[in-house]
Amino acid sequence: MAKRASIFDCELCGTLSDGEYAFSKFGQEGGGTLSGMTASLVPVESLDSLRAERHHVKRCTKCGTFYRYDTSYEYLVNGSEEEEELVRLAPIEAKDRMSPEEYLRVMREYEERADEAGPKLRFHVVKSLAMHYLAEGDSDAMKRLMGRHPDLTPRIMGCLKEWRGRSSDPLLAQLIREAKGERGLLAGDGG
Ligand SMILES: [Zn+2]
Repeated sequence: MAKRASIFDCELCGTLSDGEYAFSKFGQEGGGTLSGMTASLVPVESLDSLRAERHHVKRCTKCGTFYRYDTSYEYLVNGSEEEEELVRLAPIEAKDRMSPEEYLRVMREYEERADEAGPKLRFHVVKSLAMHYLAEGDSDAMKRLMGRHPDLTPRIMGCLKEWRGRSSDPLLAQLIREAKGERGLLAGDGG
């Protein structure tokens, strides 16, 4: 099997935001679907039920990045409506779908090439590294990362809280306290 491209070189993933949304109303001009632009994203599970068809994880065939896909379809008297949502997953959120070696290779690549990330990818790359360091309990790596990307720190801390629950994660609670104390970045966070 050919070696997978990296997300940093992927023409599709480099153009997708962390969350893409489309709304279309059948029988009307305008509105688009995500399916057209995301043809090289393929489901990684069998779509053997309506539920699975509407809610599943897709993977980029070019670089291996994972996305959660959700759609709802409604039949209405004046034309059906379809909403689609595509959310990029951090590697750690799809860890059970990769071998341990592959996961570590991807995280190493994120570490080495973080500075190459374009505007659509930068937040994803830094957030993914932060989630990885938090899971590893590596506070030094986390502080170095936040020091290099101070503008992203408040948003990343918000994502981490949502992901882990701050009270159940002592390292995260400590990082948030320090970020608040040192830079006042999280003012208005509500304590
Ligand atoms: Zn890709």
